[in-house]
Amino acid sequence: AHLDRIAAVDGQVSAFLHVDRDTTLAQARRVDERRAAGEDLGPLAGVPVAHKDVFTTKDMPTTAGSKILEGWRPPYDATVTARLREAGLVILGKTNMDEFAMGSSTENSAYFPSRNPWDLERVPGGSSGGSSAAVAAYEAPLSTGTDTGGSIRQPAAVTGIVGMKPTYGGSSRYGVIAFASSLDTPGPFARNVLDAALLHEAFSGHDPMDSTSVGEAVPPVVEAARRADVNGLRVGVVKEFAGDGYQPGVTARFNEAVELLESLGAKVVEVSCPHFTYALPAYYLIAPSECSSNLARFDAMRYGLRVGDDGTRSAEEVMALTRAEGFGPEVKRRIMLGTYALSSGYYDAYYGKAQQVRTLIKRDFEAAFEQVDVLVSPTTPTTAFPIGERADDPVAMYLADLCTIPANLTGNAAISVPCGLSDGLPVGLQIMAPVLGDDRVYRVGAAVER
Ligand code: GLN
Repeated sequence: AHLDRIAAVDGQVSAFLHVDRDTTLAQARRVDERRAAGEDLGPLAGVPVAHKDVFTTKDMPTTAGSKILEGWRPPYDATVTARLREAGLVILGKTNMDEFAMGSSTENSAYFPSRNPWDLERVPGGSSGGSSAAVAAYEAPLSTGTDTGGSIRQPAAVTGIVGMKPTYGGSSRYGVIAFASSLDTPGPFARNVLDAALLHEAFSGHDPMDSTSVGEAVPPVVEAARRADVNGLRVGVVKEFAGDGYQPGVTARFNEAVELLESLGAKVVEVSCPHFTYALPAYYLIAPSECSSNLARFDAMRYGLRVGDDGTRSAEEVMALTRAEGFGPEVKRRIMLGTYALSSGYYDAYYGKAQQVRTLIKRDFEAAFEQVDVLVSPTTPTTAFPIGERADDPVAMYLADLCTIPANLTGNAAISVPCGLSDGLPVGLQIMAPVLGDDRVYRVGAAVER
């Protein structure tokens, strides 16, 4: 049914980079066989899932939305892919994304922009915009994404679905094509909080293949989503995430969500996190710095595209030609920014300073969580913007992640749940919890989702 739905609507939505009916149906038959053989596969067996094209899949191509990996077939599965396969989920295909997960609109895909099912002239958010669009358009019941600065929560918010960034290290980065390794976090998309928790639980937990994987057990997120109550919980409204830059309709829906929390028995207080306003500039030094290092591996020798290798050119020339043609403008901008910020003479002023800001943000979170159990804010300052509106203005694009970036810099758990519409477009409520407090955001999210 989902393959039929994809065939019917993906011509307009453009959520998928790769769909292969035969491979999907073969996987589904294999699940039937395993079931028939008496294997206990767990609650999601047979449920289809769409993977962001940043997760390696051994039976499907993986491009990270870039020309430089066009046609690459990974020899192995990411841990997320492998665990979901093991649990009997069936892969519907690979979803579109901003190239190497750099962007907030999916317009930076080297292939085509994805569209928001609520209004096809608007963006579905990004960088995991194909995954959000697929779930919002009922092409898939579940999908995966990665959140480095907001790339799960922001697309979830603007497409009216649930998107969760787990605690950093709570979900494995093994087989996730790297953007910024200290920030990248795989997480689930679904149409309700309980479904997201089921997917989260199915792929999370310690992975010896990822050196930054946490050792602790997965927090009990499914149980928390089923509990769905806020009675007696202390909720902090982040004072710094309000005011002028927020669309009036976003502010109105957010205030209603806060009132709902109060009416359900939560104790709401205003909390100040004074350094959160520096998170965005710090992120745009740290993330490009890590990207400039990670993307050095695309050297025309190991994977994908190779340009100008006609026997007359040196390896360096082939590398330069390949990178010039294979990377898009946003990726080049990040590599240049990051190389600059890390270079001798500038390192202390930029990268070093940004890492200090990161520590201050961590202290803000710690102080806040001495007073409250969760923090709330709008997920993103505006609803889905028109395709093209911010394409030539990187700073306007970067602002989409204003409220989501603090939790990335510190590794905290955070979710976006739908909290109503503004002018017919979805608005998201962000709920943030301490590191390893993933269950708390599911518990609160399930109580207030609309
Ligand atoms: N929009 C942010 C960026 O462009 C975040 C991306 C992400 O979370 N992958 O870097």
